[in-house]
Amino acid sequence: MDKKLFVISGSSGVGKGTVIKKFLERNSHFMLSVSCTTRAPRDGEVNGVNYFFLSKEEFQNCIDNDKFLEWAEFAGNRYGTKKKYIKQCLDEGKDIILEIDTKGALQVKKQMPESVLIFIAPPSFEVLENRLRGRHTEDEATIQKRLMEVKEELARAEHFDYKIINDDLDRAVLEIEKIINGENDA
Ligand code: ADP
Ligand code: 5GP
Repeated sequence: MDKKLFVISGSSGVGKGTVIKKFLERNSHFMLSVSCTTRAPRDGEVNGVNYFFLSKEEFQNCIDNDKFLEWAEFAGNRYGTKKKYIKQCLDEGKDIILEIDTKGALQVKKQMPESVLIFIAPPSFEVLENRLRGRHTEDEATIQKRLMEVKEELARAEHFDYKIINDDLDRAVLEIEKIINGENDA
């Protein structure tokens, strides 16, 4: 059976968003799940496109009503994937990508063992830090919180199905294509 649900994780600033954007340009039939979050929108982020931006109360309400396939706290904010959209895509036979943190990824695998987990690693910690800083989207305290997550993220990566290194962007995108196509040829 074709694999339909691909989860892409990795530390903040490793390039997940950049790699996925390029992948989707070349593989436009994939659906990208839009997550819910309690964090504030960055400049240019649009509600319903980048995230569904929820208040803490709204997010808690979704937890209480069992709306999430998975959710996790990351660097002081909560993030979650709504069950409904994923179920709808799978019912329609669509291929989906989730871009979520490592804790959420392991929850998805537990509930849906047929999902495929791909971890994107940086060439080095220094490169990761430079990318995160170079993006200019977080203040220093937030950058520090995100960098503090890296060690545990790397430990969780051991439970993933695949690990790739995002040094050269085009090569990283090709590797993801190879993994996804390989899973679907298996
Ligand atoms: P994430 O979504 O994992 O937090 P981003 O996609 O926002 O990370 O990327 C963080 C920064 O790193 C961005 O400024 C992006 O342009 C840059 N970047 C991503 N991939 C590469 C790469 N292969 N080489 C150099 N810079 C990269
Ligand atoms: P950012 O604030 O940079 O957009 O995202 C921070 C982290 O939260 C990233 O690792 C991102 O993959 C993760 N994330 C985004 N959406 C979700 C989600 O729905 N669930 C979980 N568990 N993590 C998410």
